[in-house]
Amino acid sequence: HGQNHTVLITGGAGFIGSHVVRKMVMAYPGYLIVNLDKLTYAGNLENLKDVENYPNYRFIKGDIADGYFINDLFSNWNFDGVIHLAAESHVDRSIEEPLEFVKTNVLGTVNLLNASKQNWKKNYERKRFYHISTDEVYGSLGDTGFFSEKTSYKPNSPYSASKASSDHFVRSYGETYGLPYVISNCSNNYGPYQFPEKLIPLFINNIIQNKPLPVYGNGKNTRDWLFVEDHANAIDLVYHKGINKESYNIGGFNERQNIDLVKLLCSLMDKRLFRNEGESEKLITFVKDRPGHDLRYAIDATKINKKLGWKSSVTLEEGLEMTIDWYLANDDWLNHVNSGEYQDYYKMRYKQ
Ligand code: NAD
Repeated sequence: HGQNHTVLITGGAGFIGSHVVRKMVMAYPGYLIVNLDKLTYAGNLENLKDVENYPNYRFIKGDIADGYFINDLFSNWNFDGVIHLAAESHVDRSIEEPLEFVKTNVLGTVNLLNASKQNWKKNYERKRFYHISTDEVYGSLGDTGFFSEKTSYKPNSPYSASKASSDHFVRSYGETYGLPYVISNCSNNYGPYQFPEKLIPLFINNIIQNKPLPVYGNGKNTRDWLFVEDHANAIDLVYHKGINKESYNIGGFNERQNIDLVKLLCSLMDKRLFRNEGESEKLITFVKDRPGHDLRYAIDATKINKKLGWKSSVTLEEGLEMTIDWYLANDDWLNHVNSGEYQDYYKMRYKQ
């Protein structure tokens, strides 16, 4: 296949993964990009329609929690690098089904580490295992301060505990077996192709359909928002330039209280939908807070800025406008997700 570097991207049919796959396939024609995804409810191959016919792209359906399958895959492909994004990613689901999160996020990560270690056989030159993680591993902040790479881990939800655990396993494979790795911990992402169970696409979807906007607790929980394409650019940079055994925090210095974010979203949507100012805000309803709901996350992204020259390219307002425009222009994508039709795309495209 003429390519000189083969990268396994796990979870490439998901929200962030699809942006990373697109970016890598387009930017590196000399790389072979292999997307491995189980296609859970969160995996949607319609996210990748525009790159599925590129000669340097392959899709494989499979489960990272299946160790035999993963070992076979690695011996068949000889990957040079792994960019690992596959995960159960929704905090509310982790409260209902913690074991699913242990299986995919912890066991799945360890399966990938084992297979990398066995396949690379200490021949680590130009090899790299890159784990994509979250700022939620650090727990919650008070009213001030930021998470840095030195902040100690204090996860509060089953989701963040599973991600913290997988970060620790990655690190331990570096220390114990010398496996080359990098980790990045990113703040909340938003943008095109995000499944409408997460706050921003859920609310855009509900505003379009005139449905209530359920805000947890008093709406004062604060999150730091990053446009997904900026995250994909950071991932490209860390994969290529990150220092072995280091971790990088990625964030946009874009903190907002949930209620302020929702109000901003409502006012942008009023304009787009030609509604009277204040109309969408009437859909806001406060609901019982999520148990263990972290009050505030804020990322100090100084290291990746200073060491690798990365910074976010859009303000929250600009990113939200682009996101809203995308959801309004791609009602096919949204309708297929809402109806469940997106789950047939794999059969249609790959199993005729
Ligand atoms: P997502 O839920 O949209 O996508 C996850 C993908 O992983 C899906 O395509 C799903 O089918 C796949 N997957 C799930 N279980 C699998 C398994 N057992 N085997 C193979 N594939 C499986 O998630 P996302 O929001 O794109 O997040 C991607 C990664 O980035 C995750 O590791 C997440 O922890 C991390 N992250 C997300 C955010 C965020 O704001 N969304 C922020 C920081 C870090």
